[in-house]
Amino acid sequence: MIKPLTCPVCHKVLPPQVSQDSGVFPFCSARCKSVDLFRWTDGKYAIVEDLAQRPDLLQQIMEDELLASDQEREESY
Ligand SMILES: [Zn+2]
Repeated sequence: MIKPLTCPVCHKVLPPQVSQDSGVFPFCSARCKSVDLFRWTDGKYAIVEDLAQRPDLLQQIMEDELLASDQEREESY
C-alpha cells in the first residue's frame, strides 16, 4: 500500500501534478513552500541569536559560581 504524500505545511494530500521535479515538492504549492521557508528562517535566526548570547552568559555564570564557591570556602575556614 502506498501512503499518499501530504504537504508538511497544510497536511493536504499532494496533488498528482506535484512531483520531486515540480520545484515545490514536498509541498502542495509554492505558497506552502514559502510558509515553510519562513518558519526555517525564523528558527535559524533564533538559534543564531541564542548561540551568540550563550558564551557570555556561560562565562558569567561560571565566574559567579567560582566567586561564590571561593567565598564559601574562605568563610568556612
Ligand atoms: Zn500545502
